[in-house]
Amino acid sequence: RTHIAIVGAGLAGSEAALQLAGRGVEVTLFEMRPVRKTPVHKTSFAAELVCSNSLKGMKRDSAAGMLKAELAYLDSRLLETARRHSVAAGGALAVDRDHFAADVTRALEEESLVHLVREEVTALAPLAERFDGIVLATGPLTSDALAEELQRLTGTEALAFFDAAAPIVMADSLDMGKLVRQSRYEEGAGDYLNAFFSRDQYEHFIDELLAAQRVVAKDFESKDLFQACQPIEEVARAGRDAPRFGTCKPVGLVDPETGRRPWAAVQLRAENAEGTCYNLVGFQTNLTFPEQKRVFSLVPGLEHADFARFGVMHRNTFIDAPRLLEGSGRMVGGSVGSMPVPLWVAGQLAGTEGYCEAVRSGLHCALSVAAWARGAAPVPLPPTTAFGALMAYATSPATENYQPMHVNFGLMPPLENSVKQKRERYGQFARRGVAALRAYGSALVEAGLLSPRQRE
Ligand code: FAD
Repeated sequence: RTHIAIVGAGLAGSEAALQLAGRGVEVTLFEMRPVRKTPVHKTSFAAELVCSNSLKGMKRDSAAGMLKAELAYLDSRLLETARRHSVAAGGALAVDRDHFAADVTRALEEESLVHLVREEVTALAPLAERFDGIVLATGPLTSDALAEELQRLTGTEALAFFDAAAPIVMADSLDMGKLVRQSRYEEGAGDYLNAFFSRDQYEHFIDELLAAQRVVAKDFESKDLFQACQPIEEVARAGRDAPRFGTCKPVGLVDPETGRRPWAAVQLRAENAEGTCYNLVGFQTNLTFPEQKRVFSLVPGLEHADFARFGVMHRNTFIDAPRLLEGSGRMVGGSVGSMPVPLWVAGQLAGTEGYCEAVRSGLHCALSVAAWARGAAPVPLPPTTAFGALMAYATSPATENYQPMHVNFGLMPPLENSVKQKRERYGQFARRGVAALRAYGSALVEAGLLSPRQRE
């Protein structure tokens, strides 16, 4: 029986392990927590969500929705688990993070072909002696020792930079008399708590935000931050009104006191099924902890907020995918250096960004490994699928200065006829993607890599 080592029981590694076991491949899954911690993970669970509890939108004609449809079609184990532990979040799929991660951990522990080993991997040669192949899925917070090993083996710089994560406040410390339960445009009405700023309150808040003390290493300012994860103070620094046109935009909201749209708004989303804590949507930050408490308490309704978790800074490690990775997730040339066994890379280390992208990457890698275990070539993923478009871009040697990326329609091959209207264009991307996915699914069934049940 083929026996694979997977390093990292995060989103990508856990999905890959469960998928491989389901295809009769034995897996030893190495996870360094709790023996060695990361600066961000809080538990020893596999598949811990490190920041927001949202897995993003589900609309079929959005890139995030298309990605979910692909995960569902390919029987993703983690998507199915997420659905079982979903919490209200308007049109998005958000989960109770602890129930989700505990359930994934249990599934790994109960799977007889998966051996979960709590150990940090610092070198690959010893694994190459014991296993038939290796999958690296150690994520953006890959331990230093392994990152150094990778740099040594690939001969290229594994890049590292910082992002920022949003704070979480306790529900019972919020002033519910001031907060308004409402979703934008009333979609799935009432899933969010909204704090409304008057113009004066907003200006005062921005003054304090800009003046607040930050935990910023000097070179942090000059590094490229992942756009969607920009700290709120950096957004405000780009322009006092920038938050009002982004995270704090008031569109689709109505202040019941005035019957009008507020000047600006902060949205809070439930972190768990019980609704005991809420995250400040889009408020990733690297203010010092006391400054977070002082400045965010200026948000109406948060005057006495208890912070369950403050925003944090984190590192982001990823390989130079356009030069090192094939579309299947395997290293160009099969492995690295003189390593005698094949090597695949999955998840954020492979250059994807986002929870669902990591899960999808783990699933994709598992299909590639399973094909290899049968002595077959991987089934090519059409670039007109959401993840196919991301992989095609991430692994094209023509791509320069690649940064980990979410799935998005900007990466899609153009439609045959140009369609001006955005919604219609997105609808066509989605329909074309469904057709491509079905063809891909049939090829997987033919290769014996997917069960031939009726696929919608
Ligand atoms: P992870 O889920 O991080 O899993 C990697 C695992 O490998 C970890 O369990 C780690 O302990 C283990 N590991 C590391 N090194 C070793 C080693 N040497 N030996 C053994 N085990 C090791 N995405 C979103 O969609 N929404 C967000 O809100 C969001 N916020 C983020 C906030 C932060 C602070 C960070 C760091 C990332 C965020 N991301 C977010 C990006 C990304 O989607 C997640 O990081 C995602 O978890 C990546 O999945 P992964 O499987 O690649 O890595």
